[in-house]
Amino acid sequence: MFLPADKTDEVDLKKTYDAIVVGSGAGGGMAAHVLTSHGMQVLLLEAGKKLNINKELRSMEWPYDHPRRGDMPPDSHALSGREYTIRQPPYANGSPYKHVYSYVEDGTGSDYAKDIVVDEKDHPYTGTQYAWVRARCLGGKTNIWGRLALRLSDYDFKAASRDGFGEDWPISYTDISPYYDKVDLYLGISGHKENLPYLPDSLFQRAVRLNPAEVKLRESLTKMGRVLTPYRAGVTTDGLKHNKYRVHCYGRGACDRRVGGCDIHAAFDSPTGLIYPALETGNLTLRTNATVNEVTVDKNTGKASGVSFIDTDTGKTYTARGRSVLLAASTLESARLMLLSKSSLYPNGIGNSSGHVGHNFCEHLMGPGVYGLDKELVGKPRTLDDGRPGSFYVARFRNLQDRNPKFLRGYGFEGGSGTGMFPDNARSTPGFGSAYKKTVRDYAGAFIGMGGFGEVLPRYENYVELDPEVKDRWGVPVLRFHIKFGDNEKKMAEDMADSAREMFEAAGIQVLSVNREILTEGYSIHELGTARMGTDPKKSVVNQFQQSHDVKNLLVVDGSTHVSASCQNPTWTIMALCWRSCDNLAEELKRGNV
Ligand SMILES: Cc1cc2nc3c(=O)[nH]c(=O)nc-3n(C[C@H](O)[C@H](O)[C@H](O)COP(=O)(O)OP(=O)(O)OC[C@H]3O[C@@H](n4cnc5c(N)ncnc54)[C@H](O)[C@@H]3O)c2cc1C
Ligand code: SF4
Repeated sequence: MFLPADKTDEVDLKKTYDAIVVGSGAGGGMAAHVLTSHGMQVLLLEAGKKLNINKELRSMEWPYDHPRRGDMPPDSHALSGREYTIRQPPYANGSPYKHVYSYVEDGTGSDYAKDIVVDEKDHPYTGTQYAWVRARCLGGKTNIWGRLALRLSDYDFKAASRDGFGEDWPISYTDISPYYDKVDLYLGISGHKENLPYLPDSLFQRAVRLNPAEVKLRESLTKMGRVLTPYRAGVTTDGLKHNKYRVHCYGRGACDRRVGGCDIHAAFDSPTGLIYPALETGNLTLRTNATVNEVTVDKNTGKASGVSFIDTDTGKTYTARGRSVLLAASTLESARLMLLSKSSLYPNGIGNSSGHVGHNFCEHLMGPGVYGLDKELVGKPRTLDDGRPGSFYVARFRNLQDRNPKFLRGYGFEGGSGTGMFPDNARSTPGFGSAYKKTVRDYAGAFIGMGGFGEVLPRYENYVELDPEVKDRWGVPVLRFHIKFGDNEKKMAEDMADSAREMFEAAGIQVLSVNREILTEGYSIHELGTARMGTDPKKSVVNQFQQSHDVKNLLVVDGSTHVSASCQNPTWTIMALCWRSCDNLAEELKRGNV
């Protein structure tokens, strides 16, 4: 498979690009794709390196082929879940290790993605406890994302009208559904149609197969009026004729290995799915190692004139010029950039006349779930269950037709069962010798588990701001967090644990453990809000086309603009919204309205 050479272009500092895109993950990659396909000259600035991602992921490598069975070197450390709750950020402060990574590097620390995520020593943050997972390289977090690709519905876009909390989105499902279709067809998504109004179907390619324990749970849930569906994976299972950088899923399951990724690119990632095809148009200039630290402003017009960026390696600063600027540095980083871009015209940061930049943060809560045993499967022949890009998803069932007396909104579950490369039960099974091995083999594959993802309400008082003292390695002020789960989240978490148990018991699955503990804020890696869209410039930062109310040629095209989190994973929505906004921007630029 052809991959472009490991080089990036020189930025023409004299040229005024039609658009400067900041960040190359889901939002930035999509912006580059759509704008270049409109014939626009686009400069894409990415803070991280252009890694040889296949070399990083090495998904065909067996554990015994690795000197430490996949662990990172001893001078490196991955934060454990506990560390986020017993210590305060910056979490790498005082650490004896040379490099410190977020929890996503898998407890003991995975060697396979450590260059993809940031070293917490270089990228500190302060304030309340928060598990912030960041990827700094071409493609950002899409190189290692979990692939669950879900649509939102009017139950989400109009949630405020339904239950009175917060604000409605300024769009309805009919506005975004054609763009979800475009994303489905361009990138590929696997799944099974269920015709649910609250979890709309995509234009699916072949679905992953459920295994016997999952089918049993699905059938039992159907009787309860709930839906378990095969994992809706942002993975091409049938292949994509229009994209030579990607092939169809071989079902090797490596995308789930520790923090995994797909080095044959059946799973969507922004470089192969969006950026390499955009480079082929000849309209894209890609500059990696370029950390944008300010959106510059034309004092005469009040418009964005471009950006200033720091070469990540040399520390040298440059200024690039653009007719429009699109921020896609990820939810919290885009907010940070807006707050950093202070000028006499915009003393509170660019696009922040409302004072809402950094506020109305929302995300998903994680932790509660259930683990059980399907006794009927004990001793049955083993099946190849980890050779799938995902297992199953249980759709939201709370606060749809009924009204739960204890909490607002809803939650879904991600789960899986069956045989993996290493049997879950090997460490907990007592004994030794051949009897021990037989027990492990007999039970391997008979376990099933699922964990909830619940909607965290967007509240103004959950916010980030610039820390007045602490700076990152490049001398740029870092974010200070003020984010805490509230009462609604705690009550929802209790219900998640109870309903998870109830569903397993109803299906005849023996419950082995129920987890009731909420993981630290941030754990879901679905950070949203901080520059929300809306019709009222006093209460929102951007309009329905993600255009700043204050600065018409400034767009924010990542999860920052979510008005509420819903309980569905955000990436497919980030990309559909971005596609819609970029189509609009291209039109508006042509008409001279921007
Ligand atoms: C392990 C894991 C599992 C996940 N599972 C799922 C899932 O199942 N489903 C789902 O929907 N989502 C999932 N996500 C979340 C998903 O990856 C994100 O929603 C998505 O990548 C967000 O896209 P983005 O463009 O906003 O940010 P990113 O993908 O993070 O990209 C932002 C880019 O901007 C760059 N950048 C940051 N600051 C600057 C700057 N100042 N200048 C220039 N560039 C900058 C970064 O280096 C990065 O490359 C998961 C994430 C992880 C890590
Ligand atoms: S299971 Fe499919 S998507 Fe996952 S790593 Fe293998 S080929 Fe890629």
